[in-house]
Amino acid sequence: MPRKPFICGNWKMYTHRAEAVALAEGTAKAAADTPGVEVGACPPACYIEAVVAAAAGTPMVVGGQNMYFEPKGAFTGEIAGPMLKDLGCTYVILGHSERRHVFGEPDDLIARKVKAAFAAGLVPILCVGELLEERKAGKTDAVVRRHVTAGFDGLASDQAAQVVIAYEPVWAIGTGETATPDQAQEVHAFIRTLLADLYDARLAQAVRIQYGGSVKPDNAHALMAQADIDGALVGGASLKVDSFGAIIAEGAKAKGV
Ligand code: PEP
Repeated sequence: MPRKPFICGNWKMYTHRAEAVALAEGTAKAAADTPGVEVGACPPACYIEAVVAAAAGTPMVVGGQNMYFEPKGAFTGEIAGPMLKDLGCTYVILGHSERRHVFGEPDDLIARKVKAAFAAGLVPILCVGELLEERKAGKTDAVVRRHVTAGFDGLASDQAAQVVIAYEPVWAIGTGETATPDQAQEVHAFIRTLLADLYDARLAQAVRIQYGGSVKPDNAHALMAQADIDGALVGGASLKVDSFGAIIAEGAKAKGV
């Protein structure tokens, strides 16, 4: 089974309600125009419902940007997996570098969230990736191995096969600096060898691995033309319909879909 490319926007803590709805309408149109690519967006939690409504009747999918691992309880300020599901989410981003490095989320917390996402009927987009100093110190593979191994800890193969991995080198996120297609491909291929070790070769070929880190219309084609890059997780450039639509079109061209 070929892996369906998946291009997803991460709106972070941007947009206001009217902007979110307009962006969702434009993104939903791009999703409908490009059926060979799965297209989604992860809006701020407070606008998920409005975005789901704007995307209704189109193939656009919606995700949360984070969640807590408990399904309910006295956890002020947190959002639970069942709440995201109830709002109409399909996916949830977990382990984003801003969660890991700004909010100090460790691997074991992220692993609990991955399991809780499945328990809530959500599919995790598990972000992994090294810091600049880790890359310079030759630790990229070790860091990615740690993130992947911890994130998949205890997952049976039927769930593991559904996880979307986003390889996001931290030095490329929001910096305008992108990994070269070769640098990204190398890590994506390495992630497949990890999955083959943890599970088997079939599963390693089935899991979709997005690239994330300053993806723009002018670099999207070269990145997604790489054999093991199955789409993109896009921050800044997903906040404008023009640039996100162009990335989706470039991804479709690169994958021949
Ligand atoms: C992201 O938020 O996951 C991301 C990759 O951001 P940007 O595209 O802005 O680098």
